[in-house]
Amino acid sequence: MNAIIRLPNYINGNWQPSTATEYLEVINPATIEILAKVPLSPASDVNQATEAAAEAFIKWRRTPALERVQYLFKLKNLLEENFEDLARTITLECGKTLGESKGEMRRAIENVEIACGIPMMMQGTNLEDVAKGIDEMMIRQPLGVAAVICPFNFPGMIPFWFLPYAIACGNTYIVKPSEKVPLTMQKIFNLLDKTGLPKGVINLVNGSKEAVDAILDHPKIRAISFVGSTPVAKYIYSRGAANGKRMQCQGGAKNPIIVLPDADMEMTTRIAADSAFGCAGQRCLAASIAVTVGEARNTFTDAIAATAKNRIVGSGLDEGVEMGPVIDVRSQTRIEGLIQKGVDEGAKLLIDGRKPQISGYENGNFIRPTILQDVDPAGEIAKTEIFGPVLSLIHLDNIEQAIAFVNGGQYGNMACLFTTSGAAARKFRYEAEVGNIGINIGVAAPMAFFPFSGWKESFFGDLHGQGNHAVEFFTQTKVVVERWKDEWTRQF
Ligand code: NAD
Repeated sequence: MNAIIRLPNYINGNWQPSTATEYLEVINPATIEILAKVPLSPASDVNQATEAAAEAFIKWRRTPALERVQYLFKLKNLLEENFEDLARTITLECGKTLGESKGEMRRAIENVEIACGIPMMMQGTNLEDVAKGIDEMMIRQPLGVAAVICPFNFPGMIPFWFLPYAIACGNTYIVKPSEKVPLTMQKIFNLLDKTGLPKGVINLVNGSKEAVDAILDHPKIRAISFVGSTPVAKYIYSRGAANGKRMQCQGGAKNPIIVLPDADMEMTTRIAADSAFGCAGQRCLAASIAVTVGEARNTFTDAIAATAKNRIVGSGLDEGVEMGPVIDVRSQTRIEGLIQKGVDEGAKLLIDGRKPQISGYENGNFIRPTILQDVDPAGEIAKTEIFGPVLSLIHLDNIEQAIAFVNGGQYGNMACLFTTSGAAARKFRYEAEVGNIGINIGVAAPMAFFPFSGWKESFFGDLHGQGNHAVEFFTQTKVVVERWKDEWTRQF
C-alpha cells in the first residue's frame, strides 16, 4: 500500500513541510478513500509566509504592471495544458462530476484572462488646472500583503476570484484553501511555481482555524477575502475589520427561483433541476426553493419530480453521471436531518433521496435529489441553508407575494425568475433584494468581468470579488495636488 502523502505548504518559492503537529485526512467523498493528509498549520507558518510576502512586496510593487501580467499569461497557458488533470483532481477531492469540474476550471481561467487587463483597469484619473497652475491626479497603488480563505465547494475557481487581480495589482498573496479539498491548490501552486513568479509573491498555507486566526491578526496583512458560511463570514469580517484590515466576506445563501405560469416549462424544469441538483446542491448559487405562482404549481411540480427521479447519481469520474456525492459524512447527516425537519414541519416528501444504494460506491456520501412539497414559507426549512440536493416547493398566488417572500429572506445571494413576460421580468429585477438576479437562468453566476455580487447576510463588506471591484479592493487611491514654477512667467 502506498504511504499517504502529507501535504506541504508553499512559502517564499519553496515547498516545505508544515510545522503542524496535527493532520486531517483528505477523503474522496465517492469512495471514502484517503487521498492525503493536510496539516493544520500553526500561526508560525502563517507568520513565515507573511514575512516572505512582505519582503517580496518591496520589489513586486515596483515591477511594471505590464511585466507583472506576463506571469498571468504563462499561468493561463499552464492551466490550459493541465486542464484535464486539474478537473480530475477537483472531482476526486470534492465529488462533483468531471463536467462540473471542467466548468469550474473554465471560470478560474476566465479570471486570469480578465486580470491580464490590469495595466488598463488600474489606471487613475487626473485633471489639469484644478486651480490656476495646479494639477490634481488620483493614482492607484497596491496595498501590500493580502490573503484569501476558501470554502470546500469550488477548490479550483474561488481562489481565482481574487489571486490574479491581487498580484496583477502589485500585491503579494497568501492562499488558505479549505482543509477538506487542499489537493487542487497543491497542483495549481506547482503551476504558479513554473511561471517563475519571484519568491514570496504567492504563498500557500494549509490549515483551519488556527491558521485563519493568525491571518486575521497579522499586522502586515492588509486585506482579506473570505468565502464560506455566514456564521464564519461574520466572525472573520468582524475580527479582521477590528484589526484595521480591508475585508470582503462572502457568506451562505438560500436562493429562491420563482416560476410564473407563463414560463416555458420544459426549459424551466431543465434549468431549475440543474440549479438545484448540480454539484449536489453544494453551490452558493444553487436553487434551494422553487416558488410556483398560480397554475405553475401543477405543471412545474410534475415535471421537476420526474427530472429529479431520473437524475443519474454516482462517482463524478464515471461517464454519464449527472450528480456526485456530498462532501462528507457530517454534511450528509446534516442534510438528512434537515429533510426530516421539513417533514416534521408539515411538508410532503415528494421524492426522498436519503440513503440511496449506489452500486460500486456503497460507502460514499450520497444523497439522491430530494423534493419537499408544500413547504411552510414561514417554517425553518424555508430559511435554513441546506447546501445539498434538496429542493423545497412553495406555492404563492401572485408575483407580488413571490417578491415579498424573496425579500423576507435573511440572505441575498441570488434569486431567479422564469417567465415569458418582459414586464414581470423588469418588475422582479427592479424589486428583488438580492445581489445576483437570473431571468430564465438558474445559476446567475457573473462572468469574471462583473463583480460577484451578494447582499444581506450573503456578503459582508463593500467591494466584491472579480472584475473592477477586485481592482478597487486590491488597490488604494492616492490623490496628488501639484504646482510647479511656471517656466514662462517664472512665478509660482
Ligand atoms: P466554512 O465557513 O465552514 O469554511 C470556510 C473556510 O473558513 C475554510 O477555509 C475553513 O477552514 C475556515 N473556517 C471554518 N470555520 C472557522 C472558524 N471557526 N474560524 C476560522 N476559520 C474557519 O464553509 P464551507 O463549508 O467550506 O463552504 C460552504 C459554505 O460556503 C456555504 O455556506 C456556501 O453557501 C458558502 N459559499 C458562499 C459563496 C458565495 O459566493 N457567497 C461561494 C461558495 C460557498
